[in-house]
Amino acid sequence: MTFSELSLIEPILTALEKKGYKHPTPIQNKAIPHILAGRDVLGCAQTGTGKTAAFAIPILQILDKNIPSQKRSISTLILTPTRELAIQIEENIVDYGASLKSSYCVIFGGVSQQQQTQKLRKGVDILIATPGRLLDLHQQGFIDLRHIKQFVLDEADRMLDMGFIHDVKKIIQLIPKNRQTLFFSATMPKTIQQLANSILNNPVTVTVAPVSSATEKVEQRLYFSEKEAKKDTLIRLVNESNCDSVLVFTRTKHGADKVARFLNKVKITAAAIHGNKTQNARQKALNDFKDGKTKVLVATDIVARGIDIVELELVVNYEIPNIAETYVHRIGRTGRAGKTGLAISLCETTEKPYVKDIEKILGTKIPVFSL
Ligand code: AMP
Repeated sequence: MTFSELSLIEPILTALEKKGYKHPTPIQNKAIPHILAGRDVLGCAQTGTGKTAAFAIPILQILDKNIPSQKRSISTLILTPTRELAIQIEENIVDYGASLKSSYCVIFGGVSQQQQTQKLRKGVDILIATPGRLLDLHQQGFIDLRHIKQFVLDEADRMLDMGFIHDVKKIIQLIPKNRQTLFFSATMPKTIQQLANSILNNPVTVTVAPVSSATEKVEQRLYFSEKEAKKDTLIRLVNESNCDSVLVFTRTKHGADKVARFLNKVKITAAAIHGNKTQNARQKALNDFKDGKTKVLVATDIVARGIDIVELELVVNYEIPNIAETYVHRIGRTGRAGKTGLAISLCETTEKPYVKDIEKILGTKIPVFSL
């Protein structure tokens, strides 16, 4: 299958060619025709599958047909849990819509609202938002949600994990019932399934890489290492890996800072990225990592969720996550869009039960290695 077989318009095909995408990914193949046909979609897919393009491309194409000549009103709302994801979606829209006329705005908390409201005042077609800032600006009268024709709910399960589901439900009450809804979630816990049932209208369900098989492209290794020894184990693994970019996960913000500090001490360039850092500090850390200025990015889960680095070779779980799905999300940071990757987990005795849970959802044992 090629992108042109998906009946995409020329400007989008050119943009995809520029990005170097040769073929649609499975989620794009399956979802794009239904979205273009105006159907509601329930997409079970995690980041790394190309799901952002799967909704961004058809949305841009539909919008291109319907751009009004006068002042714009928001007709597409994309709701996503984290600032990083919001920025990533915006980047996708900029790339694919480079020569289209639709205008967009991205809003998220933690930064001044002034730039955001200035852009909103001019009128935009697509609004990409995190729930809290959206409700805030709506309450202040900066956002009119009455003309929404397309609504994307991205990473619904993560909305639930992060405690945003109540805000999401409030937002759904504010947008017109008569609309196209695209609902994406990596996992389908009962609450999410219920939410999907309540807001989707006769949806097409599109499933790719269910949690248990999402990790096929990633080689996984488990190293047993007690707390005191983890520091040296990590340093050795990073030094011996020959990788230019390594993403290390910790469970806590404090832990992330600590790891970045000890790596820098042994001359491995590292930066931490977590919720206590300002948006600018996070973006700088991310850009330095993407540009190869820092070798190691140390992140907590919530922040890491939005990170998209295509060339990521190695992911290290410095601590094992206590939620099994989180492991799958973490290691999905490598082996993206057809590339292979390596995921290493450092496990101390008290973390062994977490590994058991993870192996249960993977349906396989993680091979044990030693230094
Ligand atoms: P996502 O699942 O949306 O986070 O996308 C994962 C990564 O795959 C991003 O870096 C995209 O730029 C990339 N990507 C999306 N679609 C394709 C495609 N058809 N071919 C190659 N890479 C893609």
